[in-house]
This record gives sequence, structure tokens and C-alpha cells, in this order.
Amino acid sequence: MNKRRRVYEGKAKVLYEGPEPGTLIQHFKDDATAFNNKKHALIEGKGVLNNRISEHIFVKLGEIGVPTHFVRRLNMREQLIREVEIIPLEVVVRNVAAGSLAQRLGLEEGKALPRSIIEFYYKNDGLGDPMVCEEHITAFGWANPPEIDEIMALALRINDFLVGLFCGIGIRLVDFKVEFGRLWENEQMRIVLADEISPDCCRLWDAATSDKLDKDRFRRDLGGVLEAYQEVARRLGVLTENPRPKGSGPVLVSSKPH
Ligand code: UDP
Repeated sequence: MNKRRRVYEGKAKVLYEGPEPGTLIQHFKDDATAFNNKKHALIEGKGVLNNRISEHIFVKLGEIGVPTHFVRRLNMREQLIREVEIIPLEVVVRNVAAGSLAQRLGLEEGKALPRSIIEFYYKNDGLGDPMVCEEHITAFGWANPPEIDEIMALALRINDFLVGLFCGIGIRLVDFKVEFGRLWENEQMRIVLADEISPDCCRLWDAATSDKLDKDRFRRDLGGVLEAYQEVARRLGVLTENPRPKGSGPVLVSSKPH
């Protein structure tokens, strides 16, 4: 049925060739994986939620001037994106100690970090995405120094914006992972935000209860994965299954003279 050419299939997404040169279609699957693919499950509806959540965040970031690969959402599971050359790095920004950082440095989970920290991991499943530093990145030619500067500046702007966005809906942005790509326009190259931003690649804790509203629910077998993603979507205002109640128009509250 599906005649489109598949360009790439990842763990949670498929890329198809787009309707015109230089574009791709990014399709969000329901697959959830963790621990370098050792754990795998289908979470029905996750792809639909991530498509909407990521669209919302990429559009908002675009509005504040962060260049992204996003063009527009096509349907429940797919978005049109610009084709970019992915820089083979997972860029992690952390605000609070958790996950591998807490383990590696023996930090208490949940402790605010003295400042936001950026880490780089080399995108290579066979090696389990090892952590790398700028020396590795430049020596092996994955990115050059000005590109690294641009990536770090963008990552911090994205972090500042997202911390505020989530804070406004009662969510603590603990950490997240982003990817960047090179986009050529008239001989000019720009670094743009690519991939996705969703509860699959962020740690999102409810500000009041510290409940996890992200993929850690799957990694740590906490249950309620879909419900948590739905809650994030609902708070962001992107869940549209239930139509908004019709307003009743202005209501006269009191007509009594004072
Ligand atoms: N992350 C990701 N993909 C990865 C590894 C990490 O999206 O392959 C995200 C993860 O969801 C978290 C942040 O990056 O929000 C930091 O993850 P960490 O290094 O603590 O690794 P983890 O504990 O997830 O193995």
C-alpha cells in the first residue's frame, strides 16, 4: 500500500522521501526501546503523541528564532521536514542530576546542578553511544570548532526556552537530548535542530509530586507510559481528541445596583 521510498528506519521513527527534493517525511512509530535496544515494546498511541508534542515544541522554538528542520505536520503520525546532514552527536543538556550522570558521579537524583551542563555522545548503536568530548569531535571530523560553538549556543537557548515552557505547566525539565543537522541554502550552511523533542528524549518531572512524565516510566517499568505522555500533551495544550467546550458568551454576573 505504501509506495513511498523509505530512506531510514530508526528505533522510534521512519524517514520517507518527501514530496519534493530536499524534504523528508518523518513518521513516528509506537515502538519504545531502551538500554540500547535490549528492551522493546509497543506503546499504542505514543507515536501520535510524540508527533504532536514535537511539532508544538519545534514551532515554538522556530518562533524565538531557533532554526529547525520542521516544515509542517502532515497527519497524526507524520511531519514534513527539511532533509539535513545529521551531525553524529547526541547533545544532552542537564539541569538536574539524574540517569547516567547521577550514576557516574555518585550524585543524588533530583539535585539541581550548579549550572546547566552540556554533554556529547557519539551516535553509534554498535558502541552504545559512548560519551565523547570536543577533542574527539574535532579530531574525528564529526564537527569543527565553530560548529561545536553553534551547537552549544543553540542547545543552551533551547534549554532556557524549554525550562520556562515546562515550568509554566508545572513540569521540571531535568534533562533532554537533541540532535542537529547541516542545512545548505544557496551555498550557505546552517546548523539546525533536527530529530524530535518529546517525552522519549527528555526527563520531565511533575513539579509538585516529582512523578515521572517521560520514558523513564518505560525504562524503569513504572507503568502508565502512555498516560504520562498524554498528560504532557494535555498540559502543553496539544491534545485535541476532546473538543473544547463551547463558550456560552458573556454572562451578566450581577445587575444589582451597588
Ligand atoms: N537520551 C536519549 N537517547 C539516548 C540517551 C539519552 O534521548 O540514547 C536522553 C534521556 O531521555 C535523558 C537524557 O538524554 O533525558 C540524558 O540521559 P542519560 O545520559 O541520563 O542516559 P539514560 O539514563 O537515559 O541511559
